[in-house]
Amino acid sequence: MYTIHGIAVSTGIGIGKARILKEVTLSVSKEDINPSEIEQNIDLFNKSIQTIISEIDEFIGAYHSRGDKKTAEKIKNQNTKKNLTEDESIIETHKMILLDPEFHKEIKRYISEERMNLEKALYTHFTKTIDYFNNLNNELYADRAVDYDDVYRRLLMRIKKIDTNLQDEIEEGDVAVLDDIPPSMVSPFHKKGIAGIALRRGTKTSHSVIIARALGIPIITGIKHSHKIHNEDVLIIDAKNGKIIGNPTTEIIVEYQILEDQINHEKNILSGFKEISATTADCELIQLFTNIELPFEIDNILDLNTDGIGLFRTEFFYLDRKNLPEEVEQYEVYKMIAKKLGDKQFTIRTIDIGGDKVANWFSPPKEENPYLGCRGIRFSLKNKTIFKTQLLAILRASVYGKVQIMFPMIASIEEFIEAKEVLEECKNELRKKNIDFNEAIPIGTMIEIPSAAINSEILAKHSDFFSIGTNDLLQYTVAVDRNNETIANYYNPYSPAFLQLMMRAILSAKKYQKPVSICGELGNDHNFTAFLLCLGVREISVGSQHILGLKKHIRSINIMKGIPFLEDIQKCETIKDTELFINRLNNICIHNTRTFLVT
Ligand code: PEP
Ligand code: MG
Repeated sequence: MYTIHGIAVSTGIGIGKARILKEVTLSVSKEDINPSEIEQNIDLFNKSIQTIISEIDEFIGAYHSRGDKKTAEKIKNQNTKKNLTEDESIIETHKMILLDPEFHKEIKRYISEERMNLEKALYTHFTKTIDYFNNLNNELYADRAVDYDDVYRRLLMRIKKIDTNLQDEIEEGDVAVLDDIPPSMVSPFHKKGIAGIALRRGTKTSHSVIIARALGIPIITGIKHSHKIHNEDVLIIDAKNGKIIGNPTTEIIVEYQILEDQINHEKNILSGFKEISATTADCELIQLFTNIELPFEIDNILDLNTDGIGLFRTEFFYLDRKNLPEEVEQYEVYKMIAKKLGDKQFTIRTIDIGGDKVANWFSPPKEENPYLGCRGIRFSLKNKTIFKTQLLAILRASVYGKVQIMFPMIASIEEFIEAKEVLEECKNELRKKNIDFNEAIPIGTMIEIPSAAINSEILAKHSDFFSIGTNDLLQYTVAVDRNNETIANYYNPYSPAFLQLMMRAILSAKKYQKPVSICGELGNDHNFTAFLLCLGVREISVGSQHILGLKKHIRSINIMKGIPFLEDIQKCETIKDTELFINRLNNICIHNTRTFLVT
C-alpha cells in the first residue's frame, strides 16, 4: 500500500485499476511545398476542419438526445444537466477556434504565400497562439492555451491519419493516470465509465478539470510521485482530500466504499432541493446567492436556481498577469454573465487587490502591514484610471441585466462618497458619448472593517445595500491574520465583539430599509444560520457547492421560535457564553425533520 498526494480540485471517491496513459508524440513535417501543391493542402485543411466540426456537432447532438444509455443514466442519477451545458460550452469553444475566420485566413496565407505545408502552417499558427496565452502569465489564459493545444493535436492527428484515441486504451472502472488530459477527451472517458483521473499537471481552473468536476468524475492534479503507480494497481482517488491510495487493504477499500455510498446518497438527497425555495419552516423566503471568482463558474450555477450572484470577486482580471485588463475585456465578461443571469441579481465587487493579493503589473511601495495598507477601495481611489476602467465596463454591462456595484474595504463614509463621485464621473463620460447604462444602478457597501460596522448608520443612509464580509470583519475585529494557520484558534467567529459589530451593521441596514446580505464564510456556517435569520438577514451568498446544503438547512429553521431569545446575546461576555447561546438558539429553532413540506 502507498499514498500519493496531489491537489484537491474536485470531490468524490473513485476506486479502480490504474491505467497509465502516454500521449502520442506528434512530429511535424517542415518541408516547403511547391505551387502545384497549394490547392491540395488548402483542400485538406478545409476537409479536416469540416470533419472535426461534424464530429463535434454529432457529440453535442448525442448529448441532447441522450443517445448514450450510460451517459443518460449518469445524468439522471447525478443531476448533471448543468454539467452538460458547461461541457458543451467548452466544446463550443473548440468549434469557435476551428471556425475563426482569422485562423483560416492565416493558414491559407502560410500555405499560398509562404509555401508552408499544412502541418507546418498549423504548427506555426498554434505555437504562436499558445505561446501568446502562456506568456500572459495568467492561469486562466494558460487554460485557454490548453484548448488551443487540444484543437491543434486533434487537427494534426486527423491530417496525419493517426487514430490512437486515449479512450481506446481505457476500460470501464479504470483510473486514468497521465500528464494532462485534453478537454475533448474528458467526455469520452466519462462515457467509458472511468472511475477517476490522476493528472501530473493541470490546475483548478483548467477546462479539463472543470469538465471532469462537472461530470462528477473524481479528479486530482499535481501528483508528484506518480512513478509509484504501476498499471493494474488498485487505486483509490480521494479527490476531496487530494490523495491517492495505491493497492489499499480490503478494510480501507470497504471504508471508502461506504464513504462513496454516503456521498452519493447525500448528493441525491440534495439534488432534490434544486427546484424548491429556501423557505424557512415558518414560511420566510430567504434569498440565496452565489459567490464566484471566475467567469466560467456562471455555467456551474445556473441550474442551482439561486437568486443570482451575490459576490463576483473581480480580482482574477488583475492578478497573475503582466498587463492591466482593458475596459472592453471586462465589459464582455460582465455582459456575458449579466445576460446569462437574466433578471437575477448580479453583484460585482470592484477590485480588492492589496493585502495578500498582489498584482504583477504593480510594484507597490513596500508596506510593513499590507493588510492594513493600500487595499480594496483605498487602492482604487489612489489609482483612479484603473478604477474608472472597471466602473465604465460595469456601467456599460448594466443594461444587460440586474447589475449592482459593491465597494470593498470601505472604512469611512468619506471613502464611500468619494467612490460614488468617481462613479458619477464615469456616468458623465458615458452620457456624453450617448452610451447606455442603468442610471439607477444600485451601489452597495461591503461591511468588513470594524469602523464601517460602527459607523454603519451613516453608511446605510448613503448605500443602496450592505453586504457583510465576515472573513475580513472577523480578521480586523480580533486582529488575527485570516491566513495564518498558527494563530487560527484566535480567529473565532464566536467572538462576542465580532458578533456585536455584525449585529450593529444588520440593524443599521434594517433601520434604513436597505437589503443586507452575508457574503463571507459565516454565511455557510450552519451553526450561525438561525442566528442570522433571527437578526433579520434574508439574503446569504455562498460558494455554489454550498447552496443546496444551506437551502436544506434553512428549510429546517423556525425563525419565530428563536426571536424571543435573541436578546440573550447581549448577556454574552465570553466566547463560551456565545457558543452556549448559539447552541441553545439552534436547539430552539431547528427541526431537522422538515425538508420538502413547503415549496
Ligand atoms: C470577506 O471578507 O468576507 C469577503 C467576502 O471578501 P474576501 O473574502 O474576498 O476578502
Ligand atoms: Mg473581504
